[in-house]
Amino acid sequence: MIYHTNNNMQIAHTAAEMRGQLQALRGHKSIAFVPTMGCLHQGHISLIEKAKSLADIVVVSLYVNPLQFAPSEDLEQYPRPFEADARLCADAGVDFLFHPASLYPESGCKVTLKVTTLHDCLCGTSRPDHFDGVVTAVNVLFNIVQPNIAIFGEKDWQQLSIIRHMVNDLSMPIEIVGAAIVREPDGLAMSSRNRYLNNHERQQALAISQALIAMQQQAENGEHDVKALRNTARNILEKNAITAQYIEIRNATSLEEIDTLDHHNNQNSRAFIAAHVGAARLIDNMPIHSMPQEQQP
Ligand code: AMP
Repeated sequence: MIYHTNNNMQIAHTAAEMRGQLQALRGHKSIAFVPTMGCLHQGHISLIEKAKSLADIVVVSLYVNPLQFAPSEDLEQYPRPFEADARLCADAGVDFLFHPASLYPESGCKVTLKVTTLHDCLCGTSRPDHFDGVVTAVNVLFNIVQPNIAIFGEKDWQQLSIIRHMVNDLSMPIEIVGAAIVREPDGLAMSSRNRYLNNHERQQALAISQALIAMQQQAENGEHDVKALRNTARNILEKNAITAQYIEIRNATSLEEIDTLDHHNNQNSRAFIAAHVGAARLIDNMPIHSMPQEQQP
């Protein structure tokens, strides 16, 4: 991969600095924004590359958002390798890096956003306040950066779906663009939390993408029954000593549950898995073709 090092990358540590740096560009340069929690990997870099292809200016934020972590979760442990992240961003050609100490008032946040759709399933079941925290942070970031376009990974499919609703419902003039999941060569979805895995757990974690692929293949071979597909995935995970938090097949847009695949209509279905492996909570998803590939329109 060829990167275009941007030696002129500017770093802002406060909202005022970020606004000031972008001020002169507004109106005549298009701005694409990639919000992240840092600890960057090739998945994040692919979002940056997409941003570069879509706009004149690329802004990346690095911020581990406390509002989206429950007290029992890994807020404190979450890796924050700022120097390495800044180098990766410069090497990827990022123009502005926003690295705030906090996004909220010192006295705490008295106004937050509440998600009322797509939030009470999949990750929302075990993380009930998570998406409220995500949209509140993304909203603050959007208000500071005021991008034309923002890029989010399909790795966090539910998050991407909720952000699309947020922008629509709150009438934000921002185009939301999804980016495909980037995987390790063996299939494991890249994640900052993969760093928590030891060698054995890294091997175990591979079962997550293998289980998704097995469901995909079984569906393509004609299995209609979602229960049967989920059992296939569960068996693969259990053989690798992984107990899934959820294994589900849902409509990719509405996130409604699907019981039976319709092999005569293209259903836009997607399979989702979340599982704890060692100290890491990992998520992944893949499309499920409800029609055999050769019959698809
Ligand atoms: P995070 O730093 O985990 O909050 O992720 C920041 C953005 O990168 C989110 O939009 C994620 O969906 C996206 N992302 C994380 N991992 C991947 C991946 N493996 N492939 C594509 N996008 C990803």
